[in-house]
Amino acid sequence: MPELPEVEVLVRHLRPLLQGKTIRGVQVRRERLLGRTSARQLGRTLRDARFLQLSRRGKFLLFTLCKGAEAKTVLLVGHLGMTGRMYLLPAGAPLPKHAAIVLDLGAEKFVFEDTRYFGRFTLDIRAIEKLGPEPLSPEFTADVFAKALKASRQAIKIKLLDQSLVAGIGNIYACEALFRAGISPRLAARKLSSKQVLRLWQAIRQALTEAIEFGSTVSLNQAGTAERDGFFYFGRASESDNSYQERLRVYDRWREPCFVCGTAIRRYVQAARSTFYCPRCQSPRRFARPGLKSV
Ligand SMILES: [Zn+2]
Repeated sequence: MPELPEVEVLVRHLRPLLQGKTIRGVQVRRERLLGRTSARQLGRTLRDARFLQLSRRGKFLLFTLCKGAEAKTVLLVGHLGMTGRMYLLPAGAPLPKHAAIVLDLGAEKFVFEDTRYFGRFTLDIRAIEKLGPEPLSPEFTADVFAKALKASRQAIKIKLLDQSLVAGIGNIYACEALFRAGISPRLAARKLSSKQVLRLWQAIRQALTEAIEFGSTVSLNQAGTAERDGFFYFGRASESDNSYQERLRVYDRWREPCFVCGTAIRRYVQAARSTFYCPRCQSPRRFARPGLKSV
C-alpha cells in the first residue's frame, strides 16, 4: 500500500504533466471510487476544468482545478487505496482492464487504474479535514508528538498508523521508523520516555525524507507494470538498478539478518497487519541493563 513517500514521488511526477491541461471528458468506469460524489456530479464539475496545481496531504493527492469564466476553484481528492496507480497514456492507447477513471486531456488521457477498487477520486474533502500534521512540516514538532503519545494506551506501532496523530505513515514506514529509533513496536505509546519520543520523531522524518529522495532519483515505471521495485509500490523501470533490498531495513525482511546486529528479523501481527522488527535492536530491555540509564 502506498504511503507518504510513494504519493509524494507520484505527485512530483504528475504535477508538470497535468499543469495547464484541460479536461475534455470524464469516464467513470468504477463508481465505487467516487465515494459520496456521483458520476454525474464529477463529470459536470470536471468537464472543461483546467489543472492548476497538484499537491499532497498525508496519503492523499489534492488536485486544484479552475473552471469557467469566473475561474471558480475546484478541489478534487485522490487516494490510491491498496493498488491504485495514476498515469498518462496517449489518447489512442488501449485502456488497462482495471481502468477505474479516465480523463480525456486531448492528445493524452489521465488513467486511474485500481485492481481492487479501494482508491478514491472524489469532490468530498472531509477525509482531509481529519488529518493530523504533516510529518515533514514545521507544525509537527517533537512537543506536539510527545503530547499526543502521552494520551494513548495503544502500542506505539498501532498509534503511528493513526492519521489524526500524524498524516501519511503506514505499515512500512512505521516499522522502519521504530527500527531506526530502537523502540519495541509493542511498547505503549504513553510509556515512551522523552528521549525515545525524540529519537522516534527524528527517525520518522529521516525515513520519510530518505525514501522521497530515493524515489526522486530512481527511474520508475509509474504504471507499475515493470519488475518489482527499486522503490516500493511503483514498478522499476527496466534500465534502473534494483536496490529494494538495501532500502528497507526491517519491512518485508522476515527471517533475514538484521543489517545492524545480524539477528533474524521477526514478524508478528498487530491490528491485522504484519509488524517487522529486530528483537535485539528493538528489545524493551535494551536500555534497562544494570549500569545503563534507561532512556
Ligand atoms: Zn538488530
